[in-house]
Amino acid sequence: MRKTIVAGNWKMNKTAAEAKALIADIRRETADGAGAVEVVVCPPFTALASAAAALAGSSIALGAQNMHAETSGAFTGEVSAAMLVELGVTYVILGHSERRTLLGETDAIVQKKVRAAIRAGLIPIVCVGETLDEREAGRMVEVVSTQVRGSLAGVTGDEMKAGKLVIAYEPVWAIGTGRTASKEQAQEAHALIRRILAELTCGTAATAVRIQYGGSMKPDNAAELLAMPDIDGGLIGGAALKADSFAAIIKAGS
Ligand code: PEP
Repeated sequence: MRKTIVAGNWKMNKTAAEAKALIADIRRETADGAGAVEVVVCPPFTALASAAAALAGSSIALGAQNMHAETSGAFTGEVSAAMLVELGVTYVILGHSERRTLLGETDAIVQKKVRAAIRAGLIPIVCVGETLDEREAGRMVEVVSTQVRGSLAGVTGDEMKAGKLVIAYEPVWAIGTGRTASKEQAQEAHALIRRILAELTCGTAATAVRIQYGGSMKPDNAAELLAMPDIDGGLIGGAALKADSFAAIIKAGS
């Protein structure tokens, strides 16, 4: 059985003090994250230390939104996997579409980061998803397949079985737009991703990997999405910035 995982991607929102306050609210609204759903919050780098302190004693895990693939060196402005581990980070979002489109992250870059994250003991949440143009041109399968194969090259079946990888299917046209994929559209893409994982691992590990849906998931659409057979959770942007809506999505997955 795959445990549902709901993660909040706070993006470039919340100072350290604001993160502390939001986490206090999330802890209250979710009974400290204890329950059937695994809960993760992913604040900006500058709020990770205060978030880690605010999460102490709860079942809520801490995630980061990015990292560099190298362990150290002349990479101004970057942060390594070990630096995140030291702060108590468990998960790291990699290859988010905003980084792919705004910052030129390619599958090759994401793949190096995925390898480095797993090596350091972090669990990458690897984001894939097509743009509206790509979907309307009938290229969803091709685009998502290429991203999954490129971003995950080298991840072994044993690593997948050991829970060292989470994937997020995030159709770019649904992120921050209020436009959600239908449950059928989302399920189709999730099933595709699981088929590719089965091919990559000779079938053995595909059923172990959790695949989140992301893209305008809200309290009113979460339950129907999370009920689909291959949707194992949500990666939440806007609705994760308020404790009540984030908690309502977690409840919908319970
Ligand atoms: C995201 O950025 O990962 C995301 C899913 O955002 P939103 O929920 O706001 O669409």
